[in-house]
Amino acid sequence: MAPPKPPLQGACLCGAVQVSVTASPLLTLACHCRDCQKLTASAYSLTAMFPEAAFSYGGEVIKGGRHSEGRTHYFCKSCLNFVFSKITGAEQRINLRLSVLDDAALFEPFVEVMTEEKMPWATVPATHSFARYPETIEELQALMEAYSKR
Ligand SMILES: [Zn+2]
Ligand SMILES: [Zn+2]
Repeated sequence: MAPPKPPLQGACLCGAVQVSVTASPLLTLACHCRDCQKLTASAYSLTAMFPEAAFSYGGEVIKGGRHSEGRTHYFCKSCLNFVFSKITGAEQRINLRLSVLDDAALFEPFVEVMTEEKMPWATVPATHSFARYPETIEELQALMEAYSKR
């Protein structure tokens, strides 16, 4: 089934945080890193990357996760559901946890990253696979272009 057209809506587990996006994802990815395994209590995290300007949310969020400098993770203040992340140096994009979207099931991961920390039994249907991350912004842009043309 084709992914739905924007606007896209979603909410955290308890509904206190609602998200809305007026653009289609720039990219969808699965991250197999150990941090994501712990953050999601699962084998990998699922992300839909959007232009920051197209993203809005209502409700109260708090910062969680590792509180590291490079990335800030936002959680619902009430149910502590992992909602989105911001990456320092990439402020024009937002990494929304795909599971928050109402139509999450229709966005399969196009890219998988950090497979070097992957649980050996975990598989996703991604067409591009990275042991770590795409190394350059050009590589990331090429992935976004391939994703938009799929
Ligand atoms: Zn909540
Ligand atoms: Zn990760």
